Amino acid sequence: MGTHIGVDLGGTKVLAARVDQNGRAEGHVKQVTPVEGPEAVVAAIAEAVETIANGCDDPVVGVGIGAPGPISDGVMLHAPNLSGFDDAVPLGAMLEERLGLPVVLGNDANVGTFGEAMFGAARGGTTVVGCWLGTGIGGGLVLDGRVHHGSSGTAGELGHVPVTMDGGRWCGCGRHGCVEAYAGRAAMAAAVQEAIAAGERTSLPTIMASKGKDRLTSGVWKRALKDGDPLAVRLMEEAVAALGVAIAGVVNVLDVDTVVFGGGLAEKLGQEHVDRIADAVRPRLIAPEVPRRWVLAELGDDSGVIGAAALTHTG
Ligand SMILES: [Zn+2]
Repeated sequence: MGTHIGVDLGGTKVLAARVDQNGRAEGHVKQVTPVEGPEAVVAAIAEAVETIANGCDDPVVGVGIGAPGPISDGVMLHAPNLSGFDDAVPLGAMLEERLGLPVVLGNDANVGTFGEAMFGAARGGTTVVGCWLGTGIGGGLVLDGRVHHGSSGTAGELGHVPVTMDGGRWCGCGRHGCVEAYAGRAAMAAAVQEAIAAGERTSLPTIMASKGKDRLTSGVWKRALKDGDPLAVRLMEEAVAALGVAIAGVVNVLDVDTVVFGGGLAEKLGQEHVDRIADAVRPRLIAPEVPRRWVLAELGDDSGVIGAAALTHTG
């Protein structure tokens, strides 16, 4: 039968688990992501994989990795959230050499979408888009049961779909007017700072302090929205509108049957938030009468490891 291992490489932690053919993850191993560069990251992943392998009866036949950056042919082109990954790193080859096992590498948002499409909320979809609402906006594309990597491996960058003709808010990618500049949590926090500096009143900093947080977490947003804080409501409406424009473009091009939403903000704000985004998409659809599913991711923290392991079967 053989054991398949999935690894979710994030900016702060490395999560690994073995995943069975029904998409169940077991025997999790969690490590802090090293900050000393690629060699140290490879060592941490290898250690996690070896720990899991030592606890399995069946030999490991494949290791899938979901990594936070664009991937082309097993090479991570860059990863802003990993230190020492400013230039291309052949992470796949480095791990294969270290482990002596086949390694498949995928972008984390694509991998998470794949997990949901194979075993989670988007099961049964043939044309699936994943939208990950977190610090930034991640996007993934699964077409006919396979991750769609595009011509160079960088497909699915939903977060950097432009939603303005010219200008617009500054985006972390260095351009202007991307949907992430309106709907990513980091960009929304910057907008809050600007509004406060301009004299606007908001309870967001008070809620943040009362929750003992040092940044505007998804939970802080949820509370402010519930309280009807005008700034929080306005910025969230803007975020939903921007997502509506970006996702409508993708749905019109690809005739998507399932859009799955994950990430901290989606988890906290729930199906109601997903429905609001769907309502913002619908008026822009060329075929609004076609039934499409708008669903909340259901694999939680495991979507990355499950999707990564699934890559070793079929992706
Ligand atoms: Zn951008």
